[in-house]
Amino acid sequence: MDPQAEPVNYICGDYGIKNTLEHSNVIQCRECGYCILYKKCTRRIVQYEAR
Ligand SMILES: [Zn+2]
Repeated sequence: MDPQAEPVNYICGDYGIKNTLEHSNVIQCRECGYCILYKKCTRRIVQYEAR
């Protein structure tokens, strides 16, 4: 079991394309080959109902 095997979402720094990369992958956009990717915050949106 490798806890680091979870894919991480990145946003291409050039075109803003979403890339899903695993930790073992090279950090590079799969669409345009741009090497600067921003790590996307994968925080879930939590909604509270206020009554
Ligand atoms: Zn790109």
